[in-house]
Amino acid sequence: MPGGPPRSDIVRENPARLGEIVGRVQVADEADVDRAVRDAEAEQRAWRRQPAGERADVLRAAADAVDALPGAAVLLARESGKPLADCAGELRFAAAYLRWVAERAPAALADRETDDAAGRLVLRHRPYGVVAAVTPWNAPVILALLKVGPALAAGNTVVVKPSPLAPLTVTRVLAAFPPGLVQVVHGGAAAGRALVGHPRVHRVAFTGGSEAGRAIGAAAAEAITPVLLELGGNDPVVLLDDADLTDEAMDRLVMASFATAGQVCMAAKRVYAPRSRLAEIRDAYLAAAGRVLVLGDPLDEGTTVGPVISADAAERIRGLVAGSAERGGTVVELGEVRAEMERGHFVRPALVMDVADDAPIVAAEQFGPVAPLLAYDDEDEAAARANAGDLGLGASVWSADEDRAFAFARRFDAGFTFVNTHNRTGMALRAPFGGVKRSGHGREYGVEGLLEYAQVCAIHAPAAFRAGGGGMGANAYPG
Ligand code: NAD
Repeated sequence: MPGGPPRSDIVRENPARLGEIVGRVQVADEADVDRAVRDAEAEQRAWRRQPAGERADVLRAAADAVDALPGAAVLLARESGKPLADCAGELRFAAAYLRWVAERAPAALADRETDDAAGRLVLRHRPYGVVAAVTPWNAPVILALLKVGPALAAGNTVVVKPSPLAPLTVTRVLAAFPPGLVQVVHGGAAAGRALVGHPRVHRVAFTGGSEAGRAIGAAAAEAITPVLLELGGNDPVVLLDDADLTDEAMDRLVMASFATAGQVCMAAKRVYAPRSRLAEIRDAYLAAAGRVLVLGDPLDEGTTVGPVISADAAERIRGLVAGSAERGGTVVELGEVRAEMERGHFVRPALVMDVADDAPIVAAEQFGPVAPLLAYDDEDEAAARANAGDLGLGASVWSADEDRAFAFARRFDAGFTFVNTHNRTGMALRAPFGGVKRSGHGREYGVEGLLEYAQVCAIHAPAAFRAGGGGMGANAYPG
């Protein structure tokens, strides 16, 4: 490489077994990013002209290739610290999503033509061009494919900048697409900035934290590039006084907070219980935690909670728990410990009680294996406390009466409300997901998630000026 400094590598260490190197990728510099965008732009000219059905077939073939990738779930578990079964589930879900897009996109993105007494109007879905996708580490495969799938289906090409904390599996998955349609550049904030601010990028899709989201939004605004922002959440759970606390429901509630060691944007991050049932709910919660929380190496069968992603994350989360205890909170450690905790970035799961809503562990996204259990006295109060704060990603309401739950659900400031579940178990490919308030804007999944990657452009012949039309004043508005 003439002139420039040697490129550095990102070396990924297994967060469950420190010192074990899982793999490495090369950091892209500005010239690499530029090359990737320009290649993607050149590919897009032909890609956008392919019939929608043929583009859909490319997605189906990629889905099959993802399903057949050898060793992908193990690699994902080793680089991210997520339990193996969760990693296999993410890969399956990602392939299913590509097939869903392939099935729905041709109709959803087709031209819509009206020809009537008012004139002839064609609405076409025009691709943006090159889409930049900047993604986080916690579900690196599905969060990339949620952008790549609909973007390709709509006739765009994509440059993906994965998180440096889990770049390996997603890179292998993206190689399942024909060369050129999807480019991958690696690195941290600098590579992300170079990509998002590139003048030939015409759409940005970002999933990650608020701080990076703000920087990306600002960089994109400078270039007048539209941005989809999927940011963090501080999801409330409201258990109504008739909630059915079966073992199965309680297991689901506990895992809603502790899956992926709590590092999920839509994890259940605050649990509000009616004061009249608080003791009963606490006991049922602790019993469920005893059944479902098994802390251990992600590759060991039966592990449900792995390590957190980094030493910084572990320290931050332990600090939150210690801070709650200092404020007079009650901390109950949860689950069975199987791993030698010193071997990796393990944080013992904890339930925290007797803390106020303004305690940091309640007021902000913890993004770790902790959950506060809080008492409320009436539903108006529960709704107000659930909606306090700037974030509005997910929420859930639990009740034996589904109509009552759906009525309460409308009170949440949330982009997605789950009923009698929360987190992954409540997702559906057809249900649009995204935030309100400072949790971001734009939607993924569903037809709404497809429409994010095309701009509706109109072609219009007013009736008055068509052959046989009567004409109207040159400066008049149509009637
Ligand atoms: P992060 O914001 O640190 O990083 C996300 C990505 O942005 C990475 O690829 C990173 O390298 C890049 N980046 C960071 N700063 C940048 C900058 N200035 N310019 C361009 N790129 C930049 O997030 P993370 O730690 O990987 O993920 C955790 C966060 O993501 C949590 O807040 C979580 O709630 C959120 N999240 C949201 C969703 C959702 O769908 N809403 C899903 C998963 C995670």
